[in-house]
Amino acid sequence: MTFRIEIQSDDCMSSGKCVADYPNAFMFDEEELASLIPNEPLTDQEMVKIARNCPSRAILVFDENNIQIDT
Ligand code: SF4
Repeated sequence: MTFRIEIQSDDCMSSGKCVADYPNAFMFDEEELASLIPNEPLTDQEMVKIARNCPSRAILVFDENNIQIDT
């Protein structure tokens, strides 16, 4: 894993897509917003897929140089 994910909480609409598809990596916080479970077991390809599937585009992916990936 070289990429990393950031969740823009202000943009999360609590759809639950990321939590349902990857329950080992995402959870809802006390405000019902998605948050990352530390040391999430995700591949780079999975991160891009998750970002694409987020209906509110709240999930951002960055490469090893901290450059945002165009998902
Ligand atoms: S898929 Fe996006 S909008 Fe849905 S819970 Fe996850 S971060 Fe929030």
